[in-house]
Amino acid sequence: MRQPRQQRRRRAAEGAGEPTRVALVHLGCARNLIDSELILARLGEAGVLVTGDPDEADVVVVNTCSFIGPAREESDQAIRAQLRAKSAGRLGAVVVAGCLVQRYRRDLVRRYPDVDLFAEISDYSALAQHVAQLGRGQRGPAYLEAPGLRGDGREDGRLLATPGSYAYLRISHGCDHQCSFCAIPSIRGPHRSKRLENVAAEARELIDVGVKELVLVAEDSTAWGRDHGLELPDLVEALAELPGDHRVRVMYAYPNRFPWRLAELMRDHPRVLPYLDIPIQHIATPVLRAMRRNGSGDQVRRTLERLRSDVPGITLRTTVLLGFPGETDADAAELAQFVEEFELGRLGAFTYSPEEGTSGFELEHDVAPEAAEARRMLVLEARDRVLAKSQKALVGETVEVLVDEVHPGRPADRRGPAQEARAVARTDRDAPEVDLIVHLSPISGRLAVGQRVEVRVTAVDEESNLVAEETQEAASR
Ligand code: SF4
Repeated sequence: MRQPRQQRRRRAAEGAGEPTRVALVHLGCARNLIDSELILARLGEAGVLVTGDPDEADVVVVNTCSFIGPAREESDQAIRAQLRAKSAGRLGAVVVAGCLVQRYRRDLVRRYPDVDLFAEISDYSALAQHVAQLGRGQRGPAYLEAPGLRGDGREDGRLLATPGSYAYLRISHGCDHQCSFCAIPSIRGPHRSKRLENVAAEARELIDVGVKELVLVAEDSTAWGRDHGLELPDLVEALAELPGDHRVRVMYAYPNRFPWRLAELMRDHPRVLPYLDIPIQHIATPVLRAMRRNGSGDQVRRTLERLRSDVPGITLRTTVLLGFPGETDADAAELAQFVEEFELGRLGAFTYSPEEGTSGFELEHDVAPEAAEARRMLVLEARDRVLAKSQKALVGETVEVLVDEVHPGRPADRRGPAQEARAVARTDRDAPEVDLIVHLSPISGRLAVGQRVEVRVTAVDEESNLVAEETQEAASR
């Protein structure tokens, strides 16, 4: 029977009783997820018990995001929720880490006086020690400064929060671009590539624990290696050549100064997926200029056209921003037409929010939120038309997928009607968490996470996800 919190903390302080239980609330992007996984691993090494349920925890760590307004609001709500649990006596301590701390530093101490510890982005070993201390009811520093920016070294072991089929692999930190809407360079610093041998060492460890897809992430992955006299294709080839049956997927490419040997690898190397996430932000040249993006709309078009011709069947994913100061309805219409013309079915669209500390913040915000939202919907409708068409064309086809989740079936009981065993998978056209999935049902009893199997597409659901069944061969294997 779990001891009451006060008794547990007293016994923990005496060095006896149950270990401190810590939960982590993760917010933000894949790069921040790697930080959450590093924090979880350091906590485990510090002897605390990691629980997935904040209600079970003595200490909760909130790993925040502060990229744009809505993300900051989400971080604020997550922090305040834990502070309410603390003031109600259900929680012993609240710790805040991540981009919100990196951006606002000690200002946060005034904003959240009841938070027990703030920690800047680091290797998190000191954070874990202080969390264990807080769990024992011992006070420590209220603020942990980072010893400096992370460099080109390898990152320590992680407690993966992704299913074993894929894992994110950070190849560099920070960004040298100065996009006028983006605060990331002020949060994560200038661009620093991790050395090839360090990224390869991390990749090998992931492959050794059964990871089948390495999803390369950075602020600007295409800048990798330029500070070491190398280029991204050198790294991608080295990772693809590692022993194993893994695949390499590249996210967060920048459309300008594109390292074209990467296209050859995506076309010719069996382990480099013919897929690229390449945020373009917009296509109208006046808007790209105002955003301080390198390259005109025509240059972006030429880059995507060449990718399409150099890598037959390539899947392109992108991200766009609507409502930037000075944007017109015609600019947004040009973007929507571009999405349809280039058949960009895998696309995220956001509306602009002025960010303190960015050069865009000084610009007159002359696009009303309703207009920005209407333009965003215009672009998303174009995307959805493209997507529905390309997904429907796969019905009846056999495609290879990577299994990310397997859910065993169960008979009818008090929890509800019987459920068939089912699985969730992805085609090579789909990156985890941002693109589409494949619903597999029924499934053979031998299907497992991390398996690549052939499936026959039987339908497309209302969100354009595929519905499929294992082929006879796959099921009988
Ligand atoms: S490339 Fe631009 S949008 Fe992307 S992280 Fe760098 S500054 Fe931000």
